[in-house]
Order: sequence, then structure tokens, then C-alpha cells
Amino acid sequence: MRKNIAAGNWKMNLSFDEGKALAEGVQSTFVDNVLTILGVPYPYLVSANKICEGNDSVAIAAQNMHHMEKGAYTGEVSPSMLTSIGIHYVILGHSERREYQKEDNQLLKQKVDLALAHHLTPIFCCGESLDIRKSGNHISHVSNQLSESLFHLAAADFAKLIIAYEPIWAIGTGETASPAQAQEMHAALRAHIAGHYDDQIAQGCSILYGGSVKPANAKELFGQTDVDGGLVGGASLKTDDFNQIRKSF
Ligand code: PEP
Repeated sequence: MRKNIAAGNWKMNLSFDEGKALAEGVQSTFVDNVLTILGVPYPYLVSANKICEGNDSVAIAAQNMHHMEKGAYTGEVSPSMLTSIGIHYVILGHSERREYQKEDNQLLKQKVDLALAHHLTPIFCCGESLDIRKSGNHISHVSNQLSESLFHLAAADFAKLIIAYEPIWAIGTGETASPAQAQEMHAALRAHIAGHYDDQIAQGCSILYGGSVKPANAKELFGQTDVDGGLVGGASLKTDDFNQIRKSF
């Protein structure tokens, strides 16, 4: 049985006090049978983790980490820094990092390896631009992102990942992939994983959908056979909206 997962990505938003109130409002609302993960900015990781301490159903994620262990990389954060403050999850390869920081499949392969070596669970983001979607090559493009960054992993390591399919044209735009479009991609990715590994690994892999998930559309998206939850940006910044999304399984 795959887990139901509601992950929030705060990006570069909220003051410390706003973030604290949001984390408290989420962790104090129990939702049965759903793992909630909050992707918070680096300066808030310690306090958010403290707020969720002792609550097995809410975890904190970093939104990124560096691809090297340590050294002269001013301004960067290493995986061991994250584990040293009790963080167990890290978002890798978000499309905003792929676009603005030029992170490519090869760099992300390094990050995935390093995260796993430090026992961090990557939430690996993939997705296509509008141009690629219009060209009809969206499935091969996203499949290739998985092949290039993940398929070198042994099955036992691949099984530790969470994948988030996030069509770029749907992120922060208010335009959501239809449930059928999400299901088509998720099923195709699962088949791609089964083709490289096996059916058991594919069936065990949590694949989240991200792109303008809101209380109004979460239930239908999460109801698709191969959609195991969501990675939520904008709507994860409001306690009531995000709690409603968490209850949409
Ligand atoms: C995201 O940040 O990963 C995301 C999907 O954002 P939004 O929900 O705002 O589209």
C-alpha cells in the first residue's frame, strides 16, 4: 500500500512568525492515514521541526541542498547540516531550481546520491514545460528526467524516493492539469519505473502531483489511481486551505 502524502512547499514566503503559526495550525490538526511534509525555508527548519516533534504524521523538509559534502561553497547548505538538525526529507529538482539555478539531470543525480547517502528522503521533482506538452513529447521528456537522474540507483535505494510530477505550466499559474492528464502521466511514469525495475518497485513508489492544487480540485486529483497525493505551493501557505487539502484523500 502506498502512503497518502500531502507535501507543502512554502518556497521563499512567510515571516518567521507567520511560518510558526502555519506549522502549528497544520501539526495540531490530525488527519488520519496521511503523511504531511512541510517544505520550509532553511532559517525556519529547526523551529518547524520542534513544533512537529513527537507527531509521526507531520515531517519537515528542506527545499534544496548542495551536491557536495562540505567545503568552500559560500551560502550553501549540506546534507549533513540538514541531518544534524533532525531533518529527514529534502525537495530536489524543483522546476524553479532547474530554471533559475540551471540544475540539470546530471547535477540532480549527484544530489539524489548524496541525499540517500545521508539517509535523507528526496522528494524528486520532474515535469515538462508548456512547449514540450504542446509538442506531444511530455511523457518521454519526464520519463527521461527519471532515467537520467534516478535509474542508476539500486532498486532498494530507488524504493526510498518520493517522486513529484509537476507540469511547469501548472505551477503557480492557477491552471491545473486535469485529473485525466495527471493520471496519464503518473501511470506512464509508473510503467517506466516497472520497465526499468519491476512491478513491485513501481507499485510501491509514491508519485505526487503538483501544480495549482487547491481545496477545490484536490479530491478529484488525489482520487486518480496513480496519484498518491500532492506537492502544494500557494495553497500550502494558508492553514485552512492546506488542512482541507490534507483531508482530500
Ligand atoms: C510547487 O511549488 O511545487 C507548486 C506546485 O506550486 P503551486 O501549488 O502554487 O502551483
